[in-house]
Amino acid sequence: MSSSTVTPGDTLVIRGGTVVELSPPGLRREDIVIREGRLVEAGEAGPRASTTIDASGCLVMPGLVCGHGHLYSALATGMPGPTEGPTCFTEILERVWWRLDEALDEPSLRSSVLVGALGAIRCGTTSIIDHHASPSFIDGSLDVIAEALEEVGLRGVLCYEVTDRGGLPRRDAGLRENERFIGRDLPFARGLVGGHASFTMSEETLEACVDIAKRQGSGLHVHLAEDAADQRDSEKKYGLRVAKRLARSDALRPRTLLVHGVHLDAEERDLVASSPSWIAHNPRSNMNNSVGYANPTGLSERLIIGTDGIGADMFAESQHAFFRAREQALSADAGQVLGWLMKGAELVSELFGQTIGQLQPGAAADVVVLDAQLPTPLTAGNLPWYWMFGLSSRMVRDVVMGGRVILRDRQFQTVDERAILAESQEQARALWSRL
Ligand SMILES: [Zn+2]
Repeated sequence: MSSSTVTPGDTLVIRGGTVVELSPPGLRREDIVIREGRLVEAGEAGPRASTTIDASGCLVMPGLVCGHGHLYSALATGMPGPTEGPTCFTEILERVWWRLDEALDEPSLRSSVLVGALGAIRCGTTSIIDHHASPSFIDGSLDVIAEALEEVGLRGVLCYEVTDRGGLPRRDAGLRENERFIGRDLPFARGLVGGHASFTMSEETLEACVDIAKRQGSGLHVHLAEDAADQRDSEKKYGLRVAKRLARSDALRPRTLLVHGVHLDAEERDLVASSPSWIAHNPRSNMNNSVGYANPTGLSERLIIGTDGIGADMFAESQHAFFRAREQALSADAGQVLGWLMKGAELVSELFGQTIGQLQPGAAADVVVLDAQLPTPLTAGNLPWYWMFGLSSRMVRDVVMGGRVILRDRQFQTVDERAILAESQEQARALWSRL
């Protein structure tokens, strides 16, 4: 829709900015040159770039990754609460989220994803690892999400939440949706095998998920011990704690993404740490649901940060991770937390088969320009601390994903933002009335 969209063969140059690498931290003065969706050597710009973004006085950094999100919940902002307030975690699911996801249809899902994608891009987030549920609209739901993400310009790792809570036909539809979508070949989307959580998955259901992962060379994306209720259920039904149950079923696989891990004992933490799986820490969600602290320090080499559906502002989420870690122990280090945030880009890199999260030649051109008028000197040494105390998603001015200019001077270049928001107002009203 706009001349700022870079067509194949064109060159995009982000000129005059300070390039900021986040992991490991580094600063350099360099122009970023982009062709065919990737960064190329600075000398390859040629005499005249097709498109130039002037980043003088700005910071230029890699696009951020939301390591665990729920785009289906984007229309929940401001939603009326349940008539009877929840008193525990399972009541939060039953009275809020399982009523919302049941009420989603195709138009409301599409609207929700578009709104969520707009919010992510505005925060400099260019990839989201999403965990989806819409039990009244399962078949093709992941295609609707992928299309809406592509329309806005967000990279997605998608899955459908398999669960027994809606009965066998819906469970089987969820399994089919995962396997079908993983088999699709899309430029900006990949699939995982979604599972809700141990306490809503029988042995047969868990095994069916693992089977798909094995057949497809994929992994599971599943909530793990978010609340003590998940442990109680597993011990009662299977005589095993949750992480051990997943390990026994061979679910702790190389591309598996576990989520939360709040209620793991020392043995389970060791099991997760020594497995090849990844784990997503979601500090704001854990605080909001009052489920406890999933102390991430020492939990895994492959620990990443997600929002669990509270938007996709990874500045805010990583800052909350930092402050919550500091509350726990004064030794918590900003560099460690920034490392967790950027670890998400490693998982996305593996799933897309290209480098994401680094501004080096050959890497995917997922680039964010921050209009950051800084009051004090920024160096490679103080960058993690500057991140926690002095940088914010409000500084995001331009966003490029896969070489496409998505946001320029804070204006969307790919979609009509006002039209999407006008539609989402209507969709949200209708969705809330169906609850
Ligand atoms: Zn979640």
